[in-house]
Amino acid sequence: MTITSIEQISTIGVIGAGQMGNGIAHVFALAGYDVVLVDINQEQLDRARDSIRNNMTRQVSKDRITKDEMESALERLKTSSDNQALAPTDLVIEAATEDEAIKKEILKSICPILKPDTLLATNTSSISITRLAAVTDRPERFMGMHFMNPVPVMQLVELIRGIATSPETYSLVQALTEKLGKTHASSEDFPAFIVNRVLMPMINEAIYTLYEGVGTVQSIDTAMKLGANHPMGPLELADFIGLDTCLSIMTVLYDGLADSKYRPCPLLVKYVEAGWLGKKSERGFYDYREDPPVPTR
Ligand code: NAD
Repeated sequence: MTITSIEQISTIGVIGAGQMGNGIAHVFALAGYDVVLVDINQEQLDRARDSIRNNMTRQVSKDRITKDEMESALERLKTSSDNQALAPTDLVIEAATEDEAIKKEILKSICPILKPDTLLATNTSSISITRLAAVTDRPERFMGMHFMNPVPVMQLVELIRGIATSPETYSLVQALTEKLGKTHASSEDFPAFIVNRVLMPMINEAIYTLYEGVGTVQSIDTAMKLGANHPMGPLELADFIGLDTCLSIMTVLYDGLADSKYRPCPLLVKYVEAGWLGKKSERGFYDYREDPPVPTR
């Protein structure tokens, strides 16, 4: 049965239970979909369920959702460390680590498990949709569906067509985005699309500003918050996104556009080498083991 309308979509698969995967699972479960969240790491799955429950509890306390809506959303959410659990899904959104080899391996391995008509999307921040689509058995039913962090709060979903994406696939994913109450922006399939093509060089430049000693972590973040009216400073934002993800995106821009202006800052590389990946590992440009967090430089 070919999927021609979103009414035929009832079960959503999400691959990767990190910060993004748990947010994507959260919004689909609340919108009434059955959700299967898979990850190779059982601890991440347990943490994801806890953080979805905590985030929904916060929504209940703010009267955004009712307790009943929360309980039935949590009942619709299944987690598994086995990709076979994706068999009944109608749409799968891949939200694993920002690494092309990992994403290709996942996409290749799940195709034989999925129904032939299941739609496939990736939440990649930067990697070519066309290249990822090419390793699947359904490039016409594959596209980019790039949610923003934190997913339950952020309004935008960037939609990206690969060269082979069919107009029907794009329309279905656009309609689903609207059903989630989100707004879309369309981007062509070039490195890092729109949001990260503009945002990430700004963050990388903030890290160069730190590296060259122009300012401290605190002065750079204060300058951009109060001087440019940004809700978060660029270094705080980098920690929030994840420094490994920031480095991957800069590398995709640098390699994909072959322009030295996208060179990842060596200090960003060093933080990632140290395993200081930002908030998710409790240390990045700030140390989150302290309250309030303390700058690490
Ligand atoms: P994360 O590091 O928090 O989580 C990644 C998860 O993927 C981990 O739980 C890991 O165990 C899992 N994983 C790794 N290999 C896997 C495999 N083979 N099968 C199943 N799961 C696997 O990363 P994140 O911040 O959630 O980012 C995920 C994706 O979303 C990336 O593509 C990233 O670029 C994109 N994204 C991130 C942000 C952000 O602000 N962090 C925003 C938009 C999009």
